Amino acid sequence: MDKVVIFDTTLRDGEQAAGGSLNINEKLEIARQLEKLGVDVIEAGFPATSPGDFEAVKLISKEIRNPVICGLSRAVANDIDRAGEALKGAKHPRIHVFVSSSDIHILHQLKKSREEVLEMARNMVKHARGYVEDIEFSPMDASRSNPEFIYQMLEAVIDAGATTLNIPDTVGYSIPDEFGRLIDGIFKNVPNICKARISVHCHNDLGLAVANSLAAIKNGARQVECTVNGIGERAGNASLEEIVMILKTRSDLFDVTTGINTEQIYKTSRLVSELTGFPVQPNKAIVGGNAFRHQSGIHQDGMMKMPRTYEIIDPKTVGVPGSSLVMGKLSGRHAFKERLSELGYNPGDADFDRIFAAFKELADKKKEVTDRDIESLVAEEKRVGTVTESYRLDRLQVTCGDKGVPMAAVRIVCNDGRTMADAALGTGPVDAVYEAINRLVQVPNKLTEFTVKSVTEGIDAIGEVLIRIESNGITYTGRGADTDIIVASAKAYLNALNRLLSSRIMS
Ligand code: MN
Repeated sequence: MDKVVIFDTTLRDGEQAAGGSLNINEKLEIARQLEKLGVDVIEAGFPATSPGDFEAVKLISKEIRNPVICGLSRAVANDIDRAGEALKGAKHPRIHVFVSSSDIHILHQLKKSREEVLEMARNMVKHARGYVEDIEFSPMDASRSNPEFIYQMLEAVIDAGATTLNIPDTVGYSIPDEFGRLIDGIFKNVPNICKARISVHCHNDLGLAVANSLAAIKNGARQVECTVNGIGERAGNASLEEIVMILKTRSDLFDVTTGINTEQIYKTSRLVSELTGFPVQPNKAIVGGNAFRHQSGIHQDGMMKMPRTYEIIDPKTVGVPGSSLVMGKLSGRHAFKERLSELGYNPGDADFDRIFAAFKELADKKKEVTDRDIESLVAEEKRVGTVTESYRLDRLQVTCGDKGVPMAAVRIVCNDGRTMADAALGTGPVDAVYEAINRLVQVPNKLTEFTVKSVTEGIDAIGEVLIRIESNGITYTGRGADTDIIVASAKAYLNALNRLLSSRIMS
């Protein structure tokens, strides 16, 4: 069977999504998980866009050895030089050069002629070959370009040394038949096409990113660019987990395989959602919270008699933890360690001690501690490790109700051990807490998003708060979890502020 190369762009296109903001440690953590998932190529960033992207690509190149590490670059010498520089330490480096091919883009954005663009493409692919052997080239907005011009451009860049040709549906405009024909046309009309692999990069503006990618595979494409949970610019990219599971589940129709270890899918999805702050909708295929829950009585009856009656994928195949053993306050260290390991976490001793202490504290408040609770605890503890904590919440007290003025008193600990305390009024308890923190920390910012959700059912559930704040045009995400949602809100706000402050220190 032919192999379809899985090119993951979660760290580039996915992170480009509005509100996405990962720090370098988080990018590395996602890259490590993508390696475990078995992706063939990781597009780690766009080095020329910012020092942060450059450093992330450099670090991932050094640390992640199995997959190809790719850096994106415009067809501009300076961009390519930055990409080449960032990828220097990579074991398998790839530079991905793109230039627009549609008249709409060429005339209105680049203000050049087709001939000039063709020349740029050819020269810049050659330039990139000065750094690496493995070159990918994308004619941006290919699906709205003149096919004859695409053929011409592809032929030229293959001669210049491109080895993967990526056909993007940049604006998510194509429909499957049409996109499939475009790929077929390329195979039939580009004379030297046998020297390169065809890839596709589909966007989901009309909800067709996955369908278009499959149409391309049917027509001979052998690399798919996709993201975990389908995140990305605007409506997002083709979702990795859907593509992979369609190819696996319907292998009767697609005679291809992938190198993905599907049992890592669920964990990867959770990690990306947690770190990017983009929740997964409950009805999302493969990784949504309801994807394997059967509600109808007839379906439940069928499932009990024989799972295959209503289940086309065994949830274990994608690593969804079995509905499990519930832990409680009598559970000991050993059992807890075992459970963590079953969920895919193997923390070192110091981390384990902290997570276990948090678990015991939670078990005192909550009778049953489920897998989701444990995932939330681990995430909460991990936040300490990935962000430099300038401030940590120490004490918090609020008064609120339908009469009277909401008021909060807050004490925080600074990283030099000093404590600071203050109180403030607000329109509600969360507002009062944020006001009090503002008085202490004094970092101007604007709150742009605030969501609370409960981790599990039940009145004693852990509440997870996700917030986004904006400062100087940059968005910072913050998360916090606690059985008390006001405490969770305070933790989330401090988490966002810590991110903001540590990014200032770095730049
Ligand atoms: Mn894109």
